[in-house]
Amino acid sequence: MFENNLIKQLVLIGGGHANVQVLKKLSMTTIKGLNTILVSEHFEATYSGMTPGYIHNDFSKEDVSIDLQRLCLNAGATFIRDKVIKVDTNNKKLELEKCPSINYDLLSINSGSISSTKGIKIENESRCISVKPISHLVKNIKLIDQILKIKKTKVAVVGGGVASFELAFSMIRRYKQNIDITILGEKILAENNLNNKTRKKLLKIANDLDIKILNEPVTHITKKFIKCKNGEAVESDLNLISTGACLQAWLSESELDKDENGFFIVNNNLLSINNDDIFITGDACSVINTPRSKSGVMAVRQGEILKENIFLKLFNKPLKKFKPQKNWLYLIGTYPDYALLNYFYLSLHSRLCWKLKVFIDKRFINKFKFINKKFMKKKSLTLEKEKKIEMYCQGCGSKVSKKNLINFLKKEKFNTNLSDSSYIMFKSKSILQTIDHIKHFNSMNPFDFGRISYLHSQNDILAAGGKVESLSVSLGVPFSEGKVESFFLNYFMKGIFFESKKYHSTFESGHTYHSNEPGITMTMNGEPLNKSSKDLANCGELIYLTKPLGTGYLLSAYMNNSNLISSEDYKKIIYFLKLSNYLSADVARKNDCKVMTDVSGFGLGAHLSDISKSSKLTANISLKQNILINNNLDLLNNHKSTGYKYNFESTNKFILNNNNNKFTNILFDPQTNGPLLIVIDENKKESFEKEFFNVNKFQPYLIGYFSEKSDVLINVND
Ligand SMILES: Cc1cc2nc3c(=O)[nH]c(=O)nc-3n(C[C@H](O)[C@H](O)[C@H](O)COP(=O)(O)OP(=O)(O)OC[C@H]3O[C@@H](n4cnc5c(N)ncnc54)[C@H](O)[C@@H]3O)c2cc1C
Repeated sequence: MFENNLIKQLVLIGGGHANVQVLKKLSMTTIKGLNTILVSEHFEATYSGMTPGYIHNDFSKEDVSIDLQRLCLNAGATFIRDKVIKVDTNNKKLELEKCPSINYDLLSINSGSISSTKGIKIENESRCISVKPISHLVKNIKLIDQILKIKKTKVAVVGGGVASFELAFSMIRRYKQNIDITILGEKILAENNLNNKTRKKLLKIANDLDIKILNEPVTHITKKFIKCKNGEAVESDLNLISTGACLQAWLSESELDKDENGFFIVNNNLLSINNDDIFITGDACSVINTPRSKSGVMAVRQGEILKENIFLKLFNKPLKKFKPQKNWLYLIGTYPDYALLNYFYLSLHSRLCWKLKVFIDKRFINKFKFINKKFMKKKSLTLEKEKKIEMYCQGCGSKVSKKNLINFLKKEKFNTNLSDSSYIMFKSKSILQTIDHIKHFNSMNPFDFGRISYLHSQNDILAAGGKVESLSVSLGVPFSEGKVESFFLNYFMKGIFFESKKYHSTFESGHTYHSNEPGITMTMNGEPLNKSSKDLANCGELIYLTKPLGTGYLLSAYMNNSNLISSEDYKKIIYFLKLSNYLSADVARKNDCKVMTDVSGFGLGAHLSDISKSSKLTANISLKQNILINNNLDLLNNHKSTGYKYNFESTNKFILNNNNNKFTNILFDPQTNGPLLIVIDENKKESFEKEFFNVNKFQPYLIGYFSEKSDVLINVND
């Protein structure tokens, strides 16, 4: 009996303080039948409580961030890095900036807010940075560094709330003498929960740090000045907008009910009051009849209820109620290792308060770090027991539903007659043909995966000296129904089309099936342009790679929660996975390349030794750090992908490692959409490298040359 038939689609918008808790829960509990997708415009979620600490260098960016891809990987969810631009509640559909639209059964919006600039005229030449969402501020820190590095800079913080003060204190510590700060705002420290002692202390600390305060509404920001309602003008080179929160335009346009300040009204179950398929939490919502100021603390508290209510709702059980507290603890970073604590009438400023703040913040953020954790044993619940598939056929019966297929083909303006086969017209008598299969990487955006599988298959045709003309695909989608099945079908195919349109190849036919191991099989037909064959290498010819290596062991390390690999590293892997070899192959052909191969599942060692063997030569190569996507040697030597062992066993005997080169493991690492290995005549070195640089904006990787045949097929030198 097959159990995990995905019947419901839960979509989370934004990796805010509440949605991350839903994913954390999913990392401990499998809900069979549920497909979860997170859409977030950033790879990392920023924890607001620690952001001032990041600005004044107490914490690194990694310390204050949650790696959303890794969180999704552990939660069994799909991560889509993109921006939602429309919520269509009538069709239960989300429009995204770059990726195809997504349908939901249940939606959770936790996308924060932006700083409001209502009533302020901002001139284009002025330099303004919004501090909300908090991830926007963190993203812009490097830009602020650049601005402040040059000369002493006048900075205006437009706002006046606690966040403006904490931000100003941390800016003084980061930029020391290079900054002159003024806080301007209609209301200074007006938060209801602050007691008078805390207000006085914050004003005194600001005074001690030479921060000027101007209690006036800002009306106009020009290139050089910030102007207030009373006519006063303050000189300013950089303006940090830390005003009250407001909703982003794409959300304001939705049909969900909003309060007088424009925030979504939710009931005390955290569901929209006019749509009970949509949970809304954090800055984006106001809980009916209990207005509270927007804060990360409130979003975290709501997350504790959200993570229960989403699942209770999926199981049709009564939901829990959120009871917003009236007063909560403030811990505000001030001087180095000092924090100011405010709770009811208590106001304490000490080192101990800082220690308490660090303890509380780290305890929260560490829940979302999975460093060195092997996959945990999860509790398992099933959405609807009667929906289990009692029997499934592995032949035609495992196809996706005809309705979903026809809908997809109609939308893409394809012939919906489902003809048995198609005619392909070729100019030449002989064609190039190849078939490839890759398995979907857990939690990866299936649109990206579609793109990668196209590029991976295309390498075979490029390496043979041709160009792809047509393709046929077979898609393995997870056992699923309705929206989930459509999501995978649509995303896989649109990713493939994205690349095929770019390279002018035509999609001819397809097949679909349900599988425990989703993936894409692709057959490509190509027109030969230049003949390229492994037996045509000559003595003295140079060996190049078109991009660095390492996708196999790096993905393995990431998927095993290695502490050696961060979200920044993952972004780099994805970058190279999506980097096409098309233009590089073109440059090679123009430079009379007769030997090309793609480095794929068998690794560099096997592909290179094939050429040496066929051409009766020996390859002399030097392996250096620059040919690795990631230059951490510990990663290369401590992590191996599943294919490594067989690659090593079949090829190592042909290789001589002369000086104990430290990088030889890379020879056996399987690559997905890996580099092309290109052999170039020495006389063409200059023109090949120049033209390669012109199209790619980086140099090709020269790794060695061929010499007369010796006892081994590959000599590795330092
Ligand atoms: C300088 C500063 C310091 C602060 N310090 C504190 C503090 O110490 N304690 C405290 O309680 N509060 C603090 N706050 C307030 C706090 O930052 C916010 O109230 C809190 O972040 C709101 O949380 P949230 O979960 O609603 O959304 P956020 O934490 O803002 O997360 C929303 C996420 O959704 C993503 N997103 C937005 N739009 C889209 C879209 N269209 N598509 C996909 N993804 C999207 C964003 O990129 C972001 O990652 C501070 C604010 C500032 C500016």
